[in-house]
Amino acid sequence: MTYPMICNYHTHTTRCQHAFGTDREYVEAAISAGIKKLGFSDHVPYPFKDGYVSHIRMATDETEDYVTSVQALKAEYKDDIEIFLGFEAEYLKDLWDDLKAFLAPYHIDYLILGQHFLGMEGDGNYCGRPSPDEERLTKYVDTVIEALRTNCFSYLAHPDLINFTGDEKVYKRQMTRLCLTAKELNIPLEINLLGLMEQRQYPSNRFFSLASSLGNSFILGRDAHEPTMFLDKQTLDDTCLFAQKHQIVPLLDVILRKPMF
Ligand SMILES: [Zn+2]
Ligand SMILES: [Zn+2]
Repeated sequence: MTYPMICNYHTHTTRCQHAFGTDREYVEAAISAGIKKLGFSDHVPYPFKDGYVSHIRMATDETEDYVTSVQALKAEYKDDIEIFLGFEAEYLKDLWDDLKAFLAPYHIDYLILGQHFLGMEGDGNYCGRPSPDEERLTKYVDTVIEALRTNCFSYLAHPDLINFTGDEKVYKRQMTRLCLTAKELNIPLEINLLGLMEQRQYPSNRFFSLASSLGNSFILGRDAHEPTMFLDKQTLDDTCLFAQKHQIVPLLDVILRKPMF
């Protein structure tokens, strides 16, 4: 059985430099797909120090354009779809206060946590890189827990992004901490449709079997990097089968937590 997907809070735009289509095309594709609530959550423009320029997120000086565009579409399409302004952000402890100060004037609706990196952005720190290093797994879990406790994040995107290839018992012990914290804070875990479509290491059976047994709550996220992804019924069907296999019934909607900066 395919669950109706009436909300999607994981949507990118071309500003992140690896997505396609206009902002308007995302809105129109979402409407065609029957989505009632659409959240834009492009990769957050981190105010990096020392002139570092990221190639996987919008530049800080593009923020205004992003915000203006999403707000304009929100007003224009208000009778057809509810649009929310957000970002997908990593929790980078050293830059977190700077990020909050940077985002404060924009009065965003929500943040989702996508912990792509540990420490500074860069290939070596990418969480999806396979590694048997327990210390790295522990750091991922510690970082995610600390981030969730800020109460700034509405849900955790691809919680199983960390690509740990070591002992299963270690994986289970560490990820149990993550799941129990999310449960305590009532923060849903995302089943990521892009990962499933592209057969990445997530969504992973070992993680969702564990999280399901621990009683977490779940939400589907398209992680749309192009508008047509909303219309990809096959991936939605496959994701629903994946959920059923783990006795998961995803939430139809999540309560957005407006970040209090
Ligand atoms: Zn992306
Ligand atoms: Zn994403």
